Amino acid sequence: MIPIKTGAEIDGMRVACQISAEILAEVAAAVQPGMTTGDLDAFAAERMRARGVQSAFLGYGGFPGATCISLNDEVVHGIPGNRVINAGDLVSVDLGVTAEGFIGDNATTVCVGEVDEESARLVAVCEAALAAGVDAARAGNRVGDIGHAVQTVTEAAGFSVVRDFCGHGVGRKLHEDPQIPNFGTPGKGPELKPGMTLAIEPMINQGTFRVEILANGWTVRTRDRKRSAHCEHTVLVAPKGPAEILTCAEKK
Ligand code: MG
Repeated sequence: MIPIKTGAEIDGMRVACQISAEILAEVAAAVQPGMTTGDLDAFAAERMRARGVQSAFLGYGGFPGATCISLNDEVVHGIPGNRVINAGDLVSVDLGVTAEGFIGDNATTVCVGEVDEESARLVAVCEAALAAGVDAARAGNRVGDIGHAVQTVTEAAGFSVVRDFCGHGVGRKLHEDPQIPNFGTPGKGPELKPGMTLAIEPMINQGTFRVEILANGWTVRTRDRKRSAHCEHTVLVAPKGPAEILTCAEKK
């Protein structure tokens, strides 16, 4: 059952998503070589406190961080801690907040200082894949159209899409129906309707799409240790045209 949000619920989602996007932009701008992933998480937690919102991830299934911070060959669900961020790293920050009972979920991958050309290209393709996914999230389309769009952009660039983790509906709960794979067949899957709020989140790899989970039970890493990028927006399926990006930091 895919929730269709009422006008009041959409208003609530707008507020949560706006705050989530603004804090993610602040966290991304705060990334510096020499700091630890724990330092970055503490900064994010402080910004959430200052804005009067809660982390949607802290304690979710026992997750110990306010954010997920994944470096280089880590795909998603990195646990913030003592790891030092270095120039040349890719730092994926996934950040969700709860505001007045609604959740905004978004992620970005930051290039720290000068990164190698293939890493920069990976991040650019991930963002392009997300844009294609958002463009495909139109009323009357189906979930498979989103995944197909993400997959097409990614594979045309010579990269792969992770199969084992996917996007999702989001609203009062962090994970609602439907699941939104980053691969798919056009015209297949549940139909998209106005008022659905969806987290679209390409996770793309330089090498194999195969991943493994570290001994901590959370962190997902590429099996071949090549790099991965992740970006995410929460969007609203509109009556017409592409979905509206709710996690847009620039908007007032
Ligand atoms: Mg998500």
